Amino acid sequence: MASDINKELGTTEVKWNLGDLYSGYDDPVIEEDISFCQDEAKTINKDFAGRVENLTAEELNVLVTRFEKLEIRLGKLFTFAFLNFATQTHDQQVSAFLQRMREIGSSIGKDTVFFELAWNELAQEKANMLLEDDLLAHYRHHLENMRKYAPHQLSEIEEKILLERAPVGRGSWTSLFEKVMGHMKFGENERTEEEVLSDLYSTDRGVRKAAAEELTESLKAHLHILIHIFNTLLAEKMISDRMRQYPGWVSSMNLGNELEDKTVDILIEATVNRYDIPQRYYRIKQKVLGLDELLDYDRYAPLEHLPDKKIPWQDGRTMVLDAFGKFSPRMAEIAGCFFDKEWIHAPVHEGKRGGAFAHPCVPEVHPYVLVNYTGNLRDVSTVAHELGHGVHQYLAAERGYYNSNTTLVLSETASVFAELLVFNSQLELLDNREERNAFICQKLESIFATVFRQVSMNRFEDKVHNGRREQGELKSDEVTNLWMATQREMFGDSVTLSENYGIWWSYIPHFLHTPGYVYSYAFGELLVLALYGLYKKEGESFVPKYLELLSAGGSQTPYELVEPFGVDLDDPQFWNDGLKIIDDMLGLVEE
Ligand SMILES: [Zn+2]
Repeated sequence: MASDINKELGTTEVKWNLGDLYSGYDDPVIEEDISFCQDEAKTINKDFAGRVENLTAEELNVLVTRFEKLEIRLGKLFTFAFLNFATQTHDQQVSAFLQRMREIGSSIGKDTVFFELAWNELAQEKANMLLEDDLLAHYRHHLENMRKYAPHQLSEIEEKILLERAPVGRGSWTSLFEKVMGHMKFGENERTEEEVLSDLYSTDRGVRKAAAEELTESLKAHLHILIHIFNTLLAEKMISDRMRQYPGWVSSMNLGNELEDKTVDILIEATVNRYDIPQRYYRIKQKVLGLDELLDYDRYAPLEHLPDKKIPWQDGRTMVLDAFGKFSPRMAEIAGCFFDKEWIHAPVHEGKRGGAFAHPCVPEVHPYVLVNYTGNLRDVSTVAHELGHGVHQYLAAERGYYNSNTTLVLSETASVFAELLVFNSQLELLDNREERNAFICQKLESIFATVFRQVSMNRFEDKVHNGRREQGELKSDEVTNLWMATQREMFGDSVTLSENYGIWWSYIPHFLHTPGYVYSYAFGELLVLALYGLYKKEGESFVPKYLELLSAGGSQTPYELVEPFGVDLDDPQFWNDGLKIIDDMLGLVEE
């Protein structure tokens, strides 16, 4: 039972307090805020629509400031709706409010969309003149960033129709996915997805095998729904990319990340070229576990000598904060707020969505973190990961709403760096060689999960999106074949993939929520390994540069943000250096 786990670990009461947003669904401020947003959107439209091409810098500044204020209020409402839904997917009131907010957001969007359209149509010369004005310095990156979508923009009427229909589009389909997964029961004991997935990390092969079967069985029973959602969203993306003239399925993600397609290709190619690293590792793991062959459900089997004692919430908290504190007291201080001020939701329970996330909320409040804490070392690492995001979002908030949104690729940098800090401080405490090795292996596996697994998933996405575009709707068997082909490419003969494993593409939310996103993890991890290498070399003087990187949020492009560290993202050698660090870590256990 989930409630027993929470009691044992001390997470029962570790729930976030959304009172910092609104006191509850009956808080009168909710309706006031909704009215403000709706009225302000209409007034802005009345004051500025049709006038954008003639605005002075001063007027443009007034307009953008008003927009920012409106979006902050709207962001607050959406955060409240979204966070409640994340822990209560079963609750119909909660679900209805989220849908209501989507509809309100869509209607507000229709009143405000004029600006982006008109701003993007402005002649470059005129736009440059405005952007160079000091009055607009604060919004320069935001305004420049908006214009990058100009070539993909449709006419005003088309954009309005798309907005009007948005509430029944992607967001609605991903909600259905969440609901299906949230309701899904696994095995005789009708357990949740989290509980079953957690069994894949059991020392007992029988438990792992049973979990793999339970997972497969329930996914199979729902495959007709899951493949429908999957296909609908592949088609949605295809249509949207075609209308907006994006050259490839991943181009819009790259543009959002402020990366050139070329940079991403270089990262992917460098990683695929080093698939020998996971293969070498899994051969070692097979030997260490004493198995004839390593099956897919053995991949996460813990190695002997690894502490498998459950870690109570309070101890996990201490591990994370101590590691942060050794690097930077400021970082520990901010992360401490999440624990002390109820900004974090930790227990496992029915109706709560799986996984973990940090939500930036709006600058005037503070970020929130959600985890499903089951008490193993991996969970501690997840807490560090999400708090890394949390600290990043907290620091970046100082730049204001429009400048705080870090591009996806760099938002994973802070989280992965935080994990690495916790890992290294834990490693220092181990002097027994076997324990050290087991611990390094576990870290390697976590790095594989962010680098090689994500790149193999990117190769899978590449195949399904292109497949959908070239040959029409995909049968579940075809998706399974593409999944297996791209997984086999990575594992080689080091892991035997069972037939069950074939449909495990169907529970991964990223493919649906944020197509193309997964490579960001590899980007973040490899960048962090390189940055950590610099920290080791430079010591104390690295810390302020790093905090400055986090504080900068999304106020500059990724290329500019990493410049102070002397990093060139288009140099294959840079990515190879990151991969070499993984190779060296593997070397430590190969000896
Ligand atoms: Zn993350």
